[in-house]
Amino acid sequence: MKPLIVANWKCNPTTLKEAKLLFSRVKKAGGIICPPFVYLSVLRANGAQDCFWEEKGAFTGEISPLMLKNLGVKYVIIGHSERRKYFKETNEIIEKKLKAALKAGLKPILCIDKMSQIPKNTKGLIIAYEPLFAIGTGQACSIQKAKRMRTAIKRAAGITVPVLYGGSVNAQNAGEYVKLAGFQGLLVGGASLKPREFIDIIKNVCYG
Ligand code: PEP
Repeated sequence: MKPLIVANWKCNPTTLKEAKLLFSRVKKAGGIICPPFVYLSVLRANGAQDCFWEEKGAFTGEISPLMLKNLGVKYVIIGHSERRKYFKETNEIIEKKLKAALKAGLKPILCIDKMSQIPKNTKGLIIAYEPLFAIGTGQACSIQKAKRMRTAIKRAAGITVPVLYGGSVNAQNAGEYVKLAGFQGLLVGGASLKPREFIDIIKNVCYG
């Protein structure tokens, strides 16, 4: 399987013009790009950062997995640590979102930082190991620890579940997580907003 390199733009950029420019620079490199919802349809991006657990109805402000699917989105990040922290998403909420995303035909990328966040049923999931201390801090996880966690996640979730690494990935360290620690890909936050850096990450992992 070709490594999956996922760009999480988070709540950036603040104008459509910048979003179009960033997307035009990175789209050919072949990653999964997850911009904010408001840019999805214009960019025709293949990834989203979250979704709701219902298909439709009286849920003001929510975006359903069916809406994403019908726009052409293929992947959706669920349970990012920022959603757990700022929006109080629990494992229970996250499992409802995972089920709904799978039902709509999306591929969910479940973010975890501890083993207790792995659901019982992992069929159809991609899991991203994102240690809290490494997210947005510039303090990437050591290859040894990441490798141990990858093995533990595979043991708990099943050998066929793809496991990604996320947390302060850059063009220098990206290749090691895939080639030395055995991850099937990467979830990239900050560095995905820098087109040159993001393209170098993909090059190093996929062709390096
Ligand atoms: C993330 O938020 O998923 C992430 C990995 O961020 P960063 O790459 O900036 O650490």
